[in-house]
Amino acid sequence: MEQIKNLSLLSSLCENVNSAIAVHNPATGDVLGYVPSHNREAIEKVIEKAETAQKSWAKTTAKLRAEILSRWYQLIMDNQEDLARIMTLEQGKPLAESRGEVAYGASFVQWFAEEGKRAYGETIPTPLTDRRIMTIRQPVGVAAAITPWNFPIAMITRKAVPALAAGCSFIGKPAAQTPLSAYAVAELARQAGLPEGLLAIVTSSDAVMVGELFCSSPKIQKISFTGSTHVGRILMRQSAESVKRVSMELGGNAPFIVFDDADIDAAVKGALASKFRNAGQTCVCANRFYVHDSVYDEFVAKFAAEVSKLSVGNGLDDGITIGPLIDDNAKKKVQTLVNDAVAQGANITAGGDDLGGQFFAPTVLTHVEHNMSIVKEEIFGPIAPVIRFHDDASLIDMANDTEYGLASYFYSKDINRIFAVAEALDYGMVGVNEGIISTEVAPFGGVKQSGIGREGARQGLDEYLNTKYICIGGM
Ligand code: NAP
Repeated sequence: MEQIKNLSLLSSLCENVNSAIAVHNPATGDVLGYVPSHNREAIEKVIEKAETAQKSWAKTTAKLRAEILSRWYQLIMDNQEDLARIMTLEQGKPLAESRGEVAYGASFVQWFAEEGKRAYGETIPTPLTDRRIMTIRQPVGVAAAITPWNFPIAMITRKAVPALAAGCSFIGKPAAQTPLSAYAVAELARQAGLPEGLLAIVTSSDAVMVGELFCSSPKIQKISFTGSTHVGRILMRQSAESVKRVSMELGGNAPFIVFDDADIDAAVKGALASKFRNAGQTCVCANRFYVHDSVYDEFVAKFAAEVSKLSVGNGLDDGITIGPLIDDNAKKKVQTLVNDAVAQGANITAGGDDLGGQFFAPTVLTHVEHNMSIVKEEIFGPIAPVIRFHDDASLIDMANDTEYGLASYFYSKDINRIFAVAEALDYGMVGVNEGIISTEVAPFGGVKQSGIGREGARQGLDEYLNTKYICIGGM
């Protein structure tokens, strides 16, 4: 593969193309290579190894675990350029964004390496004088995760590292489109000295089989999933039988609101970053824009002008800001939503073109109404539908009118309004005067059908720990 200096990162590529998964470059359609398609028996062996390895790992000190994880962090950063190239080749995002994601993914390794040392229990004042009451925190056991293609490294590390720091072992199944990045970071964990069996990546052309096996295995105690709400529901149903702990990071439909008192230039900057990062293929992307009547024309004019400057192409090329969509279906979905909105009266104010291959022009739609499909559905593409609003009360109703509750954004300079709106928005995350809010130090996650649980921050560690109450009597 092109210009990858540390070839050990690609050791997962296999020669035997029979029963293997082809990995494509979405910018060119070329096959980059093949990774193994593990069958049920192979994955069962991985689970057994993870169970054995976890028992010893749980007995190590948090300090030792932190040392190994810190070495892993350093190796990821030392290999940032190679990892970024692999990511752009298989996922399509511009190289600068891939570099950013490698650093973002690594930030979870660094954060949880430290946070694992703070898995504190409690001593609790006793109601009876002959007793002492305390809690300790213990690893849940073997954790298994299924991740999507849009953040091929960060979605793995955001789950794997809190698990490992807590004393769990971890098995990850990345999306079929982007397995190379996952294998590459796992190889660096091995080089950092992580004992065998603790971190395994499995790949399969039969995701349904993997999901059923993870959810039904009595050796796995925890399922963590990032992906669509549809698949999240399936995994929750399957996990019910063995009453597994689950974390679900699911779909979103983020509103991006510009009030009449907003700094319009700042709002345009935030809108660009929030909407067009990763070609609009992120769960926290602004999905629909609500702009107050009195600033609508100014916002749309400035926003459309900036959107027209975005540069679409192969993410490896200099100056590209928008890469390809992940596959043909993604492009068809975007085209269908745009066609539907236009048929119902929306105007194309910027972009709107199918640029061939898997490329679609960054697009601004105006005269959009709240009841259009493009507003109701997760677009997952570079389309910004802009709706005009008149009063705050109906705006909040429209913003909350969705089954999703992941991220939301608004721009205002009025401190009273800032608190009122932040509290009224029915979302797990609110960005105020800020379009990019993800960071390893803050709890990431949704409410409603956007999910259960939090990743990052101290809450991210809780997902992999059980609290045990110990009562010492007869004192
Ligand atoms: P997806 O279709 O749900 O796929 C995600 C993962 O689930 C992939 O690894 C896929 O495997 C696997 N999968 C698919 N069907 C399965 C089944 N029946 N049983 C077990 N596993 C199954 O989602 P996507 O289209 O790749 O990703 C986009 C979605 O992810 C969007 O809805 C987005 O909002 C959401 N997302 C959420 C967050 C968050 O933190 N909340 C972050 C990123 C993305 P294969 O690839 O092998 O089919």
